[in-house]
Amino acid sequence: MATFSIQNFGCRATEADASALRARMLELGMTLAAGHESADFVVLNTCTVTAAADAQARDAVRKVHRENPAARIVVTGCYAQRAPEELAALDGVAWVVGNSHQMEIPARIGAIARAASESNFVSISALTANEQDEMSLSRGPAKILTGDIFAQADVAIAPAAKPAGDRTRPILKIQDGCNNRCSYCVIPFVRGRSRSLPPDTVVGEVSKLAEAGAREIVLSGINLGSYGRDLTPRASLAGVVQRILTETQVERLRCSSIEPQHVTEDFVALVAGSPRIAPHFHMPLQSGCDRILRAMHRWYRAEHYAERVKLIARALPDAAIGADVVAGFPGETDEDFETTVEFIERLPFTYLHVFSFSSRPGTRAAESNALIPAKTIRSRARALRELGQKKAEAFRASQAGRTMRALTLHRQGDGWTEALTGNYLRVRIPGLVAANDWCDAYVNAEKISA
Ligand code: SF4
Repeated sequence: MATFSIQNFGCRATEADASALRARMLELGMTLAAGHESADFVVLNTCTVTAAADAQARDAVRKVHRENPAARIVVTGCYAQRAPEELAALDGVAWVVGNSHQMEIPARIGAIARAASESNFVSISALTANEQDEMSLSRGPAKILTGDIFAQADVAIAPAAKPAGDRTRPILKIQDGCNNRCSYCVIPFVRGRSRSLPPDTVVGEVSKLAEAGAREIVLSGINLGSYGRDLTPRASLAGVVQRILTETQVERLRCSSIEPQHVTEDFVALVAGSPRIAPHFHMPLQSGCDRILRAMHRWYRAEHYAERVKLIARALPDAAIGADVVAGFPGETDEDFETTVEFIERLPFTYLHVFSFSSRPGTRAAESNALIPAKTIRSRARALRELGQKKAEAFRASQAGRTMRALTLHRQGDGWTEALTGNYLRVRIPGLVAANDWCDAYVNAEKISA
């Protein structure tokens, strides 16, 4: 049977999609190749959140084609949904499949692989051009398969199994798409409208993952906080988390990024009330300046956001509080930037994810004539990363001397194993310990190298 490899670019939601694709292709009897260099089919699940992400995907296509010219490259994901022609023009690409049709990939490849094997095990690259063309495998122009992403109703999930490769904590994507229209963001146009898995399905999947041995499960979505708003009867993130705690044996649950307006008092109280929920909040901020937040079409102003941070810090003084911040949004003056820096400095963030503004085709911000010079964007991003580093070190120092329950990860070194605490600190414990096990980890002030 044919072999395949799969590479994921981008966020946790796309990582969950890649897991679903991988699991389905294995279910169809295909074999996971050791790497792209030996695969019949190479699936690249792309991201398009920044121009750099697009370039990374194109580089990956060229690298695969150079190292394994016989491979049939299938490009899918957000970049494929946004600009299929750009990818189809690259050598070696057999198909470009948008998010709209992504979950059809396993069956389509499986059908071709089966056809190839039934033709007396002729390896795919040995098929004649006609045979290849019949099977859409010819070296001719890539085939494009995309459709209306807003017609998407499903949320793809991977069959519950221990995570593949060096991932210890499985990601369960329970929501996809987004109904917001932040002016810089291309995501709604490549992932569609917000849609949620029914709560029963979520609880069922969490149970299966826990039974499959997962000790910590990460709930993810594109706009996780809007979970359940599209369902009838309406559901909520807090509601489904409560059901998970009551109806499953999961030992630790972690929520990925949640928009600030969804970090409610009830939700914070739920997290504070259960040792089985990781005290970790990742809340996109993007800017600390109201003028810029308005231009970004964000749903809150700086002081609303600050209130959420203070709410968390009051209820969970040792919680991790992380934020996404954009450097160099169009029209951002030095004063606006200083406002953002001061805003971050006065709040107890424990880490930052810093993004340089990247103009995305089809977004409002891309039409702006107030773009900031690249040099300025770079220096602002650098300043924010340094600030984020300082915050992370200060938080680590504040936790030094504590012994905390941590989950061992795959990463090991000379006589040590990495483990992750509930409040998102990576610590080294002595000895080589198997991944996915609980330990009591002593936190020292020294920063663990990334
Ligand atoms: S909330 Fe805004 S930034 Fe986040 S995915 Fe939706 S549109 Fe994009």
